Amino acid sequence: MQTQTSPNLVGASRAEIAALVGDLDPRPYRAAQVYRWVARRLAGSLDEMTNLPKSLRESLARSVVIRDPEIVEVRRGDEGTAKFALAHSDGAVVEAVAMPMEGHTTLCLSSQAGCAVGCVFCVTGILGAGRNLSGGEIFGQYRAIMRHQGLVGAPVNVVFMGMGEPLLNLPGVTRAVELLSETVSPRRITVSTSGIVPGLAKLAALDRRPKLAVSLNATTQEQRERLMPIAARWPLDELLAALRAFPLERGRRITFEYVMMAGVNDTLEDARRLPRLLRGIPCKVNLIPLNPDARYLAGLAAPDEETISAFAGVLAAAHVNVTVRWSKGRDVAAACGQLRGQVIGERAAP
Ligand code: SAH
Ligand code: SF4
Repeated sequence: MQTQTSPNLVGASRAEIAALVGDLDPRPYRAAQVYRWVARRLAGSLDEMTNLPKSLRESLARSVVIRDPEIVEVRRGDEGTAKFALAHSDGAVVEAVAMPMEGHTTLCLSSQAGCAVGCVFCVTGILGAGRNLSGGEIFGQYRAIMRHQGLVGAPVNVVFMGMGEPLLNLPGVTRAVELLSETVSPRRITVSTSGIVPGLAKLAALDRRPKLAVSLNATTQEQRERLMPIAARWPLDELLAALRAFPLERGRRITFEYVMMAGVNDTLEDARRLPRLLRGIPCKVNLIPLNPDARYLAGLAAPDEETISAFAGVLAAAHVNVTVRWSKGRDVAAACGQLRGQVIGERAAP
């Protein structure tokens, strides 16, 4: 009889599935079939595995489970954005977002059920630390949303820009990237970090290396430390040195995210300092006007459009590739820095 503690096939590696299935049917192709169903075809139950003999499905049903986090709330916003609250078996709730883009959907996943990094402009950070999610729990967010939205087989990009600091949960993120890579090219997976320097080398060592985004948000050490306390531990110059050493595949660039806050980091002086900091790093800069939150981010606002354009103009004149990300999903608080892991509105239909 399966129990709460029966092994979950979601998150299991090829070798782990081989061991679980091998006990029941030792032929390697059987384990390969099961792995394909879970990791590639995103099957939600053993019943869907129609090319397995019924007897094997029945014996598997007695010993393993296929369990994704449960979607407990869906909030839909403008432009097709959907924010999901997903509950894990211990009750931890995280959020993930699906954003339709031109030609694909971008899924934004959480790596932790909170964040200990404590950036002053981020609701997740203000609300504080939460536990690491396992690789299966992260991959389960993807599976649950892909199925719920009817996206299985459709082109998607995956970004680790939800709740949590991915490089403080390397085991979970590494396993999730490995499993995601079965259906999403690593070129379409981006891990965003606040700059955990030792984690960068570990990310660089992965076989299937995802793209890297770094939340910079400041142009001096002092300013960065005020906004992102983690900068005291991993200073800007060390971070930039590690990024200069980061191996990049041909044609790849590091994305620098820069959350723009009125009167905080939006001056033309900042704009002039930025290209100098980034010199020698193949990169692009993504300017993100702050998503406000009256309750948790009191006193912080996005600069006006003119200021943002002038800032972007200085970067462009210095030959920095720059884009402004007018966040999708603001109306449902699904945007970056607004994910809090709480069910706010009505529940999803079962
Ligand atoms: N912890 C990782 C990934 C999750 S945060 C990191 O910091 O990179 C994802 C992105 O959201 C980061 O670039 C962060 O700078 C941005 N962000 C956080 N709070 C925000 C806010 N209030 N408005 C806009 N972007 C925000
Ligand atoms: Fe954590 Fe990223 Fe938010 Fe900073 S911006 S508190 S690192 S989730």
